[in-house]
Amino acid sequence: MGTKVNYEEFLKEFDLRLNSYFEQFGDNICCRKGCSECCEKGDYPLSDIELQYLMHGYAELDLDTKRTVQKNISVMQRGGACPFLINKECSVYKHRPIICRVHGLAYYYKNEKVKIPHCANTGKNFAKIYKNGEFYGTPIKLNLDTYHILEGIYSDIKNLYDWVHTENN
Ligand code: SF4
Ligand code: SF4
Repeated sequence: MGTKVNYEEFLKEFDLRLNSYFEQFGDNICCRKGCSECCEKGDYPLSDIELQYLMHGYAELDLDTKRTVQKNISVMQRGGACPFLINKECSVYKHRPIICRVHGLAYYYKNEKVKIPHCANTGKNFAKIYKNGEFYGTPIKLNLDTYHILEGIYSDIKNLYDWVHTENN
């Protein structure tokens, strides 16, 4: 799965699966355009192929949007907002990394722990069935973390902050 075409094929199939997972949770999912809490704080770990694909998305942006992204990169902080977030929307949505596609779901990850999006604490996804640290739903029975999804395929996974600062130097 080393080429852009193969990665796009992989994403096509992966997105179909994710859509069915999101549908499964019905009205416990509040994700919508303009809801951007999940892009305002985070590490955004991604692999080399995802970064290349993200940069294809960046290359397609108009000049003004590229300038805004560059400006955001220059002030980016570890754990802070994603530089591709502009006016509360993802400027590279079609090209966003796996973690951004998965974010918002509840799933099992390491040691059978359940991963819940942070926005469950701010009245959004799963707020109705997540109380005092307890999840009262049925998580997806698959580890959807980027590390796991790409395990054995891509080893080079870094946080977005580290990628963009390496790329820009
Ligand atoms: S995961 Fe949460 S913060 Fe992000 S878009 Fe969905 S509802 Fe909004
Ligand atoms: S790439 Fe897009 S979806 Fe992912 S964190 Fe950045 S703005 Fe959000």
